[in-house]
Amino acid sequence: MISALMPTYNRADLAFERGEGVWLVTADGRRFLDFGAGIATSSLGHNHPHLVAAIAEQAARVIHVSNLYRIPQAERLAERLVGASFADSAFFCNSGAEANEGLVKMIRRAQHESGHPERTRVICFEGAFHGRTLAMLSATGNAKYLKGFEPAVEGFDHVPLNNLNALRGAITRETAGVLIEPVQGEGGIRTADLAFLRDLRATCDEFGLLLGMDEIQCGMGRSGRLFAHEWAGIAPDVMSLAKGIAGGVPMGAILARESVARHLVPGTHGTTFGGNPLACAAANAVLDVILAPGFLADLDRRARLLWRGLERLAASFPEVFVDVRGAGLLVGVKCAVPNAEVQAAFQAEGILTVMAGDNVVRLAPPLIVSEAEIAEALAMMERGARRCLPSASKVAAK
Ligand SMILES: *Cc1c(COP(=O)(O)O)cnc(C)c1O
Repeated sequence: MISALMPTYNRADLAFERGEGVWLVTADGRRFLDFGAGIATSSLGHNHPHLVAAIAEQAARVIHVSNLYRIPQAERLAERLVGASFADSAFFCNSGAEANEGLVKMIRRAQHESGHPERTRVICFEGAFHGRTLAMLSATGNAKYLKGFEPAVEGFDHVPLNNLNALRGAITRETAGVLIEPVQGEGGIRTADLAFLRDLRATCDEFGLLLGMDEIQCGMGRSGRLFAHEWAGIAPDVMSLAKGIAGGVPMGAILARESVARHLVPGTHGTTFGGNPLACAAANAVLDVILAPGFLADLDRRARLLWRGLERLAASFPEVFVDVRGAGLLVGVKCAVPNAEVQAAFQAEGILTVMAGDNVVRLAPPLIVSEAEIAEALAMMERGARRCLPSASKVAAK
C-alpha cells in the first residue's frame, strides 16, 4: 500500500528532533554534523538564536496579511537586497521554481514591451537545474525529469556550459535572454568559468538579450561573496534567489534592474503568500548575520580551510575521490566509486551530505560552520573514505 506521505523521495531512515548550530540530533540522541544544510538552505544552521527570536517575535505580531497591503518587513528586505546588489527592485515569492518562473516571465515581458514581441525564447545550459514546475522542467532540459510529464513547455534551448561559440550559435531572432547558474548545484557543482560569464555578459549586450542568473543555490553568501556572479565582476539583469535566503523558512525572490522590473505593473504577476511578514522577518535576520562587517571575508577564509583539507583528502584517497570543485561553502567532491556509497560511509561516520549529478557528493554546510567543525568534518570524511577503499588497499591505508 502507498505511504500516506507521497513516496516522491528515497528518504534516509533518519528523523531529526532538533538541531544545534551545525548539528542535527535524532530522537534517540544520535548526533550528525549537518554538511547538507537541508540542501544548502539552513544558512544559519539550526536553532540560531537571532533567527529564532525574529521568527517568534514576528509570529506573535502578524504572520500573513497578503500583498493587498503594505508589508514594512518586505520593504526593508527589498531595500537591503537592492542596496547590496546590482538590482533596483525585488519581488518575493515562496520557492526557487516559482522565482525562476517569474524571472522568465520578466524576461519575456521586458522584451515584449521594448518592441520585441518575437523574442520569447531563453537559452539554458546542459547540466542545469531550475526547478520542477512544468516550465522549469523544460528550462532544466533533463530528459529524466521530464519523462511522462510531456508535452514539454516551449521556449527553451540548451547549449553546453562554458562554450561561447555554442551559445552564440544558438541565438536567433526569437531569443529573449539567457538563464545560467554561476555554479550548477544539482548538476554536480560545476562552475561557469569567470571568463565565460564575462563573455556571456558581453554577448547579451551585443544581441540585446537579457541575462538571467539562477543563484537559488549559490547565492546569499554561499560562494563567499553575497552573490556568486560577483566573482566574475559582472552582473545579470535579473536574478532568482531562494534556498538560504530565509534560513529555512520557505521563500524565493527575484531581483531585477529597473529596465526589466518596470514592466511588471499591477496585475501582471502575483502571489498570495510571497513576501509575507514572517518570511521577510526571517530573511532580514539572515541578512543581519551575513551582511555583518567581516562575515563573508571570514566565511571565505573558513571555506578555504575546508577546500585545502578536501584536496589533501582527495590526494590521499585516489581510489575514492576524483576531484574537488565549487565555490566557497558549495563544494562538490567527484567520486571514483558510486557517490551513494561515499555518502553512506560519511553518514555512518556522523556527517550528512547531499548527492549531486556527475557522481558528486555535495558539501553545503551552514554558513556559520566553525573552523573546529570543519576539522571535525574532515576527520569524519577521512574515516568515511577509508570505509570506501577496496578491501585490499584498506589494510595498506591503516
Ligand atoms: C533548488 C533549486 C531550484 C528549485 O528550487 P525549489 O525551491 O525546490 O523550487 C532552482 N534552481 C536551483 C539552482 C536550485 O538549486
